[in-house]
Amino acid sequence: MSESSITAPCTGHHWMLPAPGGLTSVGTCKNCGAEKQFSNSSGGGWVLRSAAKRR
Ligand SMILES: [Zn+2]
Repeated sequence: MSESSITAPCTGHHWMLPAPGGLTSVGTCKNCGAEKQFSNSSGGGWVLRSAAKRR
């Protein structure tokens, strides 16, 4: 019974997104280590709202 070789089912990915720099960012799941590509453009997987200091 080897439990390490079996991929543990991830109950909800915990995506760790790197600092956004381009159009897309690859997030890595903290739990299972899966990778997913997120789009920084509007309508993508995630939307980053940066506080604009423009009056
Ligand atoms: Zn996961």
